[in-house]
Amino acid sequence: MISLRVNDLKQAAYCPRIVFYQYVMPVEKKPTYKMERGKLEEARLDQLEQRRKLRKYGLGEGRRSFHVWLSSERLGLSGKLDLLIETPEGLFPVDFKWTAQEPYLNHLFQLAGYALLLEERHARPVSTGFIYLIPKEDAVVIEITEGLKTECLRILDEIRGMIVREQLPEATSFRNRCVDCEYRNYCRDIF
Ligand code: SF4
Repeated sequence: MISLRVNDLKQAAYCPRIVFYQYVMPVEKKPTYKMERGKLEEARLDQLEQRRKLRKYGLGEGRRSFHVWLSSERLGLSGKLDLLIETPEGLFPVDFKWTAQEPYLNHLFQLAGYALLLEERHARPVSTGFIYLIPKEDAVVIEITEGLKTECLRILDEIRGMIVREQLPEATSFRNRCVDCEYRNYCRDIF
């Protein structure tokens, strides 16, 4: 089975061409301001999160683990989760986002991908996660439904099919996403 990353779920839902460029036609991408800033913020974030109370997530006592590497041969999927909170009530994946906007559907797929990996590793259901909006210092509760998980598995199958066929997918219909895209130079057919 072709091995994919949780991040691919997010990218495919944002624009399937991004995943195509990464796997089928690896091209040099131009680092964007957003990517550079993300790296700088990561270290600072970990320090802040250590001091943050779990109350922020509406949870009681629990254990926090940062940058948790998750992988499953059965799912053909792997990825590094920003934060895992373990409490007596359950396991809660947390993804940090450098945005004040409410999470989009592609962010939900990413979180559901981590939930699938956690379920396999810990043999227990994972049905709630959080997207932490850094600028707002707000943890948005995300219900990770069975429907969302099933859709993730479908998207992974679709990506594998695209890789095998080496077929350039349709560009996203949201052209505003192209403005800050590191693959913009390779999508000349749509500009
Ligand atoms: S430039 Fe637009 S269509 Fe091309 S990969 Fe980026 S987001 Fe997708």
